[in-house]
Amino acid sequence: MVKFTKNVRFYIRQRGARLKQLRDIKPFIASSSMVKIARVCGNPNCKCVKGEKHENYYLTYAIKKKTHTRYIPIDLEDEIREWVLEYKRIKKLIKEITFLQLKILKQYKVEKKARKKIGQPTDELLNILKQREAK
Ligand SMILES: [Zn+2]
Repeated sequence: MVKFTKNVRFYIRQRGARLKQLRDIKPFIASSSMVKIARVCGNPNCKCVKGEKHENYYLTYAIKKKTHTRYIPIDLEDEIREWVLEYKRIKKLIKEITFLQLKILKQYKVEKKARKKIGQPTDELLNILKQREAK
């Protein structure tokens, strides 16, 4: 057998670990972030008139390159923070899987060429590549 330090099998294992993490997707919200905004409420007798403004979280999100802002009720702050973080987690995994796919493509060609050179069958390599990760 031809030995490679980081062969197609290695990258497939790496990809499998990330696909596994994608199976457990929790609620998320794309391209959004939470911002804290200080405001005055309009009540002339409120402490905010004297400078102690009300601080609340708002969700900013982009639709068609336009940024929108939406108030987040205090009791939903933690939940929505989770949504924002979950999207970041998914996005990171997708980026890493794409990187690994490119590594697999590159390494596949290298290994196929090496196998041909020494007269080893190349269909085995294709089978490794096509193999779905065990559930
Ligand atoms: Zn106020």
